[in-house]
Amino acid sequence: LKAVICNAPFDLRLVEREEPVLGVGQVMMRTRRVGLCGTDFHIFAGAHPYLEYPRTMGHELAGEVIAVPDGSRFAIGQTVTINPYLACGACIACRRGKPNCCSSIKVLGVHIDGGMCELLVVPKGAVIDATGLTLDQAAMVEFLAIGAHAVARANLSEEDRVLVVGAGPIGIAAALFAKQTGAQVTLIDTRQARLDYARDRLGFERVELVDAGIAELLSARTGGDFFDCVFDATGNIAAMRAGLHYVAHGGSYVLIGVARDDLVFPDPEFHKRETTLIASRNALSADFDRVIRAIKQGSIPTAALQTHAFAAEDMPHQLPRLIEDADNVLKAIARF
Ligand SMILES: [Zn+2]
Ligand SMILES: [Zn+2]
Repeated sequence: LKAVICNAPFDLRLVEREEPVLGVGQVMMRTRRVGLCGTDFHIFAGAHPYLEYPRTMGHELAGEVIAVPDGSRFAIGQTVTINPYLACGACIACRRGKPNCCSSIKVLGVHIDGGMCELLVVPKGAVIDATGLTLDQAAMVEFLAIGAHAVARANLSEEDRVLVVGAGPIGIAAALFAKQTGAQVTLIDTRQARLDYARDRLGFERVELVDAGIAELLSARTGGDFFDCVFDATGNIAAMRAGLHYVAHGGSYVLIGVARDDLVFPDPEFHKRETTLIASRNALSADFDRVIRAIKQGSIPTAALQTHAFAAEDMPHQLPRLIEDADNVLKAIARF
């Protein structure tokens, strides 16, 4: 079996591996598509905290079912995607129906080996029916679900004005699902290429480049009110601090991106708005279902979201190039 492993930082290899054995309650999938994201780029570049090498990356997965336990609801050959957040089922978050923030979560392709391998064995509960989606679409469900989850956390209404900071894949995912609620969405980023793509290819009319005058500009665009809800999808600590100032009085601030530094706010600014501060982590199975429905309805421009495609064998060659060309990469998908 072919697998792509990250042997050590900057050392990606195509290797041969033994066929996995199907355990109790597990499903075997033939991997057909693996989407790449910032997490993979960080693992490759040695920038992911606590990661143990060697690691088989891959958490944005699509494939076909090839073996199932007795009495399974899955059929051989069925198109599926995977919920890569394997939860313990026993901790406080799991007991409260929030396995996305399980205290001992294991994410496929991060904490444990993921799907950059021809065959993958996962617990049956991680398998999600993606019948009716193309394999490329099925590989995009996971990152879209992260955006859908953040929007669900925010509880938006159609009168809301929404600001999304960061026009990378996660910011775009949040913006797409915010738009679906009827809210008016503005996207900002430090990279003009990302904004141009969002406007020209993804249908976002309101995009603004972040520069020294951005606060004044956003104030002018909203009649001095700023935004009912601001989503941060940068994980950049300076952007996360600045984002509070774009929240309207009475508004919410949803942090999707994760930073390693302390996040500090001036309390008078935080308090006078009566800010609702919300973190959003991973996604729930309901978010995966919502994404699949939206793709089936044709309300997600999946063809435009996918900017790159290549054979998995080329991964060692392609991954460094994608990192170099990051401003022009939205979603790259490897094919097995
Ligand atoms: Zn990802
Ligand atoms: Zn748990």
